[in-house]
Amino acid sequence: MTAHGLATRMLHADAELGLGTNQPVVAPLSVATTYIQPDPADLAAHLAEARAKHFPQPAVRNADEESDAPKPYIYSRMSNPTLDRVEAVLGALEQHFGDEAHAVVYASGLAAMTAALHHAQPRRIITQLGYHGTFSGMGADRDVLVVESPSNPWGTLPNLPALASWIKQTEGTTLIVDATLAPPPLQNIRQIAGVDLVVHSATKFLGGHSDLLCGAVIARDRSTAATLRRERTYLGAVPGNLETWLLLRSLRTVHLRVTAQAKTATQLATWLQSVANGDVPELEGTVTKVHHASVVYADDGADSDDPLTAAPSSVARALFPTGQWGSVMSVELASRVAARALPHLVAFGCAATSLGGVESLLEWRWQHDKTVPDTLVRVSIGLEEFEDLKADWTRALLAAKDVAEAVAAATDAE
Ligand SMILES: *Cc1c(COP(=O)(O)O)cnc(C)c1O
Repeated sequence: MTAHGLATRMLHADAELGLGTNQPVVAPLSVATTYIQPDPADLAAHLAEARAKHFPQPAVRNADEESDAPKPYIYSRMSNPTLDRVEAVLGALEQHFGDEAHAVVYASGLAAMTAALHHAQPRRIITQLGYHGTFSGMGADRDVLVVESPSNPWGTLPNLPALASWIKQTEGTTLIVDATLAPPPLQNIRQIAGVDLVVHSATKFLGGHSDLLCGAVIARDRSTAATLRRERTYLGAVPGNLETWLLLRSLRTVHLRVTAQAKTATQLATWLQSVANGDVPELEGTVTKVHHASVVYADDGADSDDPLTAAPSSVARALFPTGQWGSVMSVELASRVAARALPHLVAFGCAATSLGGVESLLEWRWQHDKTVPDTLVRVSIGLEEFEDLKADWTRALLAAKDVAEAVAAATDAE
């Protein structure tokens, strides 16, 4: 299948699991939790005889037809047809850069991260920076290093080759990379040999429509994926049927969405950086800093060599072969009030948490994550046009400044 282009594989990687004459073009939404089992083979002849005698007109089933089922589904926590299809298509996405990949899908991004940690059975977990929820559920025991690339909400890139060679000096250690903020075809994480597992919150870009909660762990080989699926059965972290179905729908277009969103994000980040530099007089004193890899790597890379937050330019560019960095950025404004106000002022974007949807989302991040400055707005760029966003943000930044001034004046008057 890898011989075909990515777009073709996103549409057809699951063909053998559902397409064919008289089959629906779109995967059916099956809500079944349990599946009719075939007759026990050793009793089949006796069962047929007894049925013929006692049930001359069978009402519900034909045992012969059922035994032709392509896969013996038993109970939907173990596996089900839509889940098999979504894993086939997500696996195909992850194989975009050529390395073998097997996707295992979970009920949420945190369920996927928990499953990856459970699989590694660590004694110690080493981590820093990133999605606040990931670090709330950790209790540890082998060593595991968990990093995000890019990190949430900063958009910084760890120096993965350096971290991988460092952690591999200790035997039995595992490197888990949360790649939620830039799935393929933007980022080629698994080219780095030392990365053991890649995790995604599929709620974000893979789902892409702000209407499903799912997660995924990407394994390098079939046997690790099989082990993860067995563990998932007992952890109980299987996604619901509707969510799996929605994710399968979303994956058909993921490559188009993420590249278009990333391109617009780079345009907006570049323009906001010029605002921060004072090159847009009208917006002087509104934006103070922009955090996005396009800004960091616009010249020649990061201004620090911290392996957790600053990959050198050559490493970063090799990881992002399309030259697009993903569509999440953080913007620091001149005041806390402006940062609280801005998400509620833009017209083409929602004041809401989460990221990766087709619509832009903005969030005053401090309300959920006290490790970030209270002047920071996290932004996930959707599929809107850049020129419209630029005009919208121009008005919204000026309006947010007015709100900050009004609040300051009211406070002074008190
Ligand atoms: C959202 C997010 C998660 C958690 O995913 P859920 O699907 O909300 O459980 C984990 N990591 C990152 C980087 C995220 O953005």
